Amino acid sequence: MRLKDKVAIVTGAGSGIGRAAAMLFAAEGAKLILADLDNADETAEAIGANARGYAADAGDEDSIRRLVRQAEEHFGGLDIMFANAGISGGLKGIFEQTPEDWQEILRVNLIGPWLAVKHAAPAIKERGGGSIICTASVAGLRAGAGGPAYSASKAGVISLVETAAAQLVGSNVRVNAICPGLIETGMTAPIYQWARDKGRGASIGQLNPLQRGGEPDEIAKAALFLASDESSYVNGHAMVVDGGLSASHPFRKLAYGQTAA
Ligand code: NAP
Repeated sequence: MRLKDKVAIVTGAGSGIGRAAAMLFAAEGAKLILADLDNADETAEAIGANARGYAADAGDEDSIRRLVRQAEEHFGGLDIMFANAGISGGLKGIFEQTPEDWQEILRVNLIGPWLAVKHAAPAIKERGGGSIICTASVAGLRAGAGGPAYSASKAGVISLVETAAAQLVGSNVRVNAICPGLIETGMTAPIYQWARDKGRGASIGQLNPLQRGGEPDEIAKAALFLASDESSYVNGHAMVVDGGLSASHPFRKLAYGQTAA
């Protein structure tokens, strides 16, 4: 019970990584305020009395302010904020994306996490400290894992957690990011479907040394570590959880036991 008596908000909790994190946090004893555009209720119902689901836009300041208030009203305060909601915005390139594409992707993926920090940090500080986790991506480390605005938004999230950790000096509120690699969720369902339809399902995830895609639960476990006191000295960090994808430049990989000669 690593989150016993802790109160957490999870955004994007209706699907994928957010839903997996909500289920895991609940199993570890947390009380949960769950937010999604439209299906947080389903996750809350699957958990039971210790979770409440709300329709909320994670990129809207009033919605985030309300979620923090709901944590305080229903569960007496806030200890953990998992700012996880995000959109891919598709795979249009630099010359196809419009200013409106950029504005919406940055609003949800980057302004959302900033609003989460802005409104959660004071409430968490009131409880004596806690943890804010923002979902970034390997797309924020370098090109090739998402569209231009998506990648820029996730690079911004990595910068945000560094700045926030530095500015929350003395608050005992830690702020970290997770950078998932390829994970099978609603967001990546079209990629998985496309590969499987072409009979190439087995090629998914072959670019990383573990040679597979990841599961939402593998990101949820990283979020649990960052949410819990087990990570009490981890702050301003972007934790990569990608099977080793970003550990290497893209040169020809040798099979296990094979030599370069
Ligand atoms: P997902 O299954 O699509 O889950 C994202 C959830 O966020 C969906 O339920 C979505 O609702 C919700 N959402 C979208 N916009 C929202 C908003 N404005 N306010 C509140 N909720 C909103 O995808 P996921 O992969 O779990 O994504 C979670 C996070 O992981 C995202 O930040 C994503 O960028 C990041 N990530 C994912 C991967 C991957 O390979 N899957 C890799 C790196 C990073 P709707 O379904 O109704 O739109």
